[in-house]
Amino acid sequence: MINAYLYHVSILIEGKENLKLEYGLEESIADYLSNKKAELISSSSEELLGNNYGRCSKCGTWVSDALEQQSITAFSNGKRINNCWYCDLCLPRNHPNAF
Ligand SMILES: [Zn+2]
Repeated sequence: MINAYLYHVSILIEGKENLKLEYGLEESIADYLSNKKAELISSSSEELLGNNYGRCSKCGTWVSDALEQQSITAFSNGKRINNCWYCDLCLPRNHPNAF
């Protein structure tokens, strides 16, 4: 077994799938990692579906409710209260999911 780990990065791209941007990102990452003990292993993209995500109304962090269906695991955990999203750091202090 090798001593290694996987580092994940998520990039939110607005609009329709943009292959030119994605290829450019991969090329830039591969260039940056050349001559380092790291390599780009894979990349993938997925359309954001449903409505279980949004921006924290206080700090702007992208959030999704991990306990609800179609959660976006790349986003921070959050809750929607009265149609406003809050990350766990910005939830009201008395909320059970507040950090
Ligand atoms: Zn927040």
